[in-house]
Amino acid sequence: MSKRLALFIFAGLILGAIVGLIFPSFGVAIQPLGTMFINLVEMVILPVVFFAIVVGAAGVADIRRMGKIGLKSIVWFEIITTIIILLGIILADLLQPGAGVQLASAKAGDISVAKQQKIDIVNMIVNIPPKNIVDAFQKDAVISVVFFAAMLGLAIASVKEKGKVVLQVFEGLMQASFTLIRWVMHAAPVGVFALAAYAAGKYGYQVFLPLAKVILVTYLGLAIVVFVLFPLVCRLVLRVPFFKVFWGVVDLFLIAFSSTSSEVVLPQLIEFSERIGVPRSIAAFVIPLGISWNADGTSLYLSVASLFVAQVAGLHLTLGQQITMILILIVTSKGIAGVPMAGLVVLLTTATAFGLPIQGVALLAAVDRVMDMARTGVNVFGHSVAAIAVAKWEREFDSGKLAAYIASTHKT
Ligand code: ASP
Repeated sequence: MSKRLALFIFAGLILGAIVGLIFPSFGVAIQPLGTMFINLVEMVILPVVFFAIVVGAAGVADIRRMGKIGLKSIVWFEIITTIIILLGIILADLLQPGAGVQLASAKAGDISVAKQQKIDIVNMIVNIPPKNIVDAFQKDAVISVVFFAAMLGLAIASVKEKGKVVLQVFEGLMQASFTLIRWVMHAAPVGVFALAAYAAGKYGYQVFLPLAKVILVTYLGLAIVVFVLFPLVCRLVLRVPFFKVFWGVVDLFLIAFSSTSSEVVLPQLIEFSERIGVPRSIAAFVIPLGISWNADGTSLYLSVASLFVAQVAGLHLTLGQQITMILILIVTSKGIAGVPMAGLVVLLTTATAFGLPIQGVALLAAVDRVMDMARTGVNVFGHSVAAIAVAKWEREFDSGKLAAYIASTHKT
């Protein structure tokens, strides 16, 4: 069912782009449909993350074990995203995607959705435990919600008899929120159609010409991540056959690619990880956490895009400045929401922190859908790799399940 849906959503994307190019005013007019779809997606995100983490943390049950899993997850996320950020910077340095692009020569997109923010690391850390959980929900503060959910899950596990009843309720709520996401995804072919028609109708294909190089460099970087980095990591570190396993999430890749939200495939990703041998408690904890901390595709995009903006502005960054930029990206690439355009908002924060012109970001906003599609798809692969990595590191990976999974795919 998920494969058919994935194809429908993908068809919506292609059709929407074609219709938007041929009938631009129609494409622009149906924007509200696309906005409604994004609203639906955002509506289900936090409940899903919240219930999944409560159940995941309660499954881990003991605070020391959770601390270990949490720490290992974060170490893994940091190592992989830093390698990817470095890769993006090297590619952008070598291929100079911003050279020759003039701020005035390209059509700028709308970045009014993005809020400009200053980076304040101490404040970021201090505010991880939310002062008020309702406020955290209201402000979409994913990390704070994750923090509270993890503590609550542990607390529930420590309450003996009544805790079991409460946990059952949360498990029911988690399943219900997964069902909600599935329902929302049935609206995706139409929503994605409208979003694609809007982008194509508003900007047309001409917008791509001056930006073709940055799009190509981003896609090249993402291809290196998927076809070189992940297979190498899987083979040398995790000892898992990347392509055999990841053929299993290709439909989720397609859904994420078309809808530009990695969050909408969260339930299926957790289920898939369990099928190939990751314990439920680890999958239900690491994957929701990874959505905001382990956005591998977004990290690659952010590094290429930041250097692009600097190049467009005619700035030649010294090695020291590039190192500072990498450090800023290591921070800003965390705390991303798995929703459309989240990466663009973060790019704006990064550019502001570095004193780069916002007009450069606005150029990229015009082609953000195309960039978002690829980075979101790669994010999905990255989450699966991270779940396997943490399970292996904890010595809880069930290789028998993986072997059975591979055997079953060979039969079909
Ligand atoms: N759309 C991406 C995701 O859902 C986030 C981003 O905009 O980079 O993973």
